[in-house]
Amino acid sequence: MIPFLDLKAINQQYRQALIQAATRVIDSGWYVLGQEVKAFEQEFAAYCGTLHCVGTANGLDALVLTLRAWKELGKLKEGDEVIVPANTYIASVLAITENRLKPVLVEPDKSTYNLCPQKVRDAITQKTKAIMAVHLYGQLAPMGAIMEIADEHQLLVLEDSAQAHGASIDGRNAGSWGHASGFSFYPGKNLGALGDAGAITTNDFELAQTVRALGNYGSLNKYENLYQGLNSRLDEMQAAMLRVKLQYLDADTMLRKQIAVAYAKGINNPLVIKPIASDATVSSLHNHVFHLFVLRVKHRSAFQSFLKAAGIETLIHYPIPPHKQYAYSSYSDLNLPLAECIHQEVVSLPIGPTMSMRDVSNVIESVNAFAV
Ligand SMILES: *Cc1c(COP(=O)(O)O)cnc(C)c1O
Repeated sequence: MIPFLDLKAINQQYRQALIQAATRVIDSGWYVLGQEVKAFEQEFAAYCGTLHCVGTANGLDALVLTLRAWKELGKLKEGDEVIVPANTYIASVLAITENRLKPVLVEPDKSTYNLCPQKVRDAITQKTKAIMAVHLYGQLAPMGAIMEIADEHQLLVLEDSAQAHGASIDGRNAGSWGHASGFSFYPGKNLGALGDAGAITTNDFELAQTVRALGNYGSLNKYENLYQGLNSRLDEMQAAMLRVKLQYLDADTMLRKQIAVAYAKGINNPLVIKPIASDATVSSLHNHVFHLFVLRVKHRSAFQSFLKAAGIETLIHYPIPPHKQYAYSSYSDLNLPLAECIHQEVVSLPIGPTMSMRDVSNVIESVNAFAV
């Protein structure tokens, strides 16, 4: 069986270093908001090219707390509209509605699955106050154009970089384009902890401090509460794990790209649409960090069964768009045919830094052998 992602094999590579780091935390006697978190925040900010990083308990909280902080700072208020791609993972939308802001779901660009600048422009109203730019599948949204639109209309830009650690345009990394960015370090993400973890990055010190306070009961100084906060902190153990794995992120990304290039070259089944990089990144496929390698296939369930019979595990990212979820039943009448078509046709092939080139060849052969 070729698994979709072999997390055990991925973490086995760093077993000794992870054990050493865990031992360091155990022996320190200090488990929440200590030296490991501080060091990781500095290292990850440097990696992204931002001045600040603040750890959170998970990626959803990173997005929730950033929007909440903008509310506390008077930059957003209840009912403000936030433009977000309709085909994103539901967490992007949850962060908006959790803050009683209004998600304005827009159709994506059909070739990159990311935001389309023109469609963003078309969605702007008097109430629009922010854009959530999701870097879906590991490729940056067209951030140059998005920041231009944001400047013109004085909108805040929050990147959802949960799938795009290290992805870049013109050498500028995910997390450094918007006014702030949320990251997830869920185990299956490109930079994955050994449990839940997340962070925000920003160059805005006031925002960073507000997020830091909100995730710590609303407090920066012990027992002094500025806000009615919550508890959402990156813990020392996960920070220590992430410090080990951050050192190997670029090498892991290179391995993902090699697989993606092999898939892109090898797959030639006319029933299958391959991912393409946007104009901004087409010259350098490497700007896409291939968190996922997503195909579109009209006969998707037959395709998945065919690959399964060949011993290849595939997944769907994502089977149901947010506006068709029960949780968002009031959005179900929205007219988003492109997003719905994407959700009906996408299927993700196995990809990960420990996948062997032999397995990659097997996947290519099986994909090319599929017929209806
Ligand atoms: C994983 C993910 C999140 C949420 O991160 P968690 O750490 O799982 O809470 C948000 N947005 C996108 C696009 C994601 O892929």
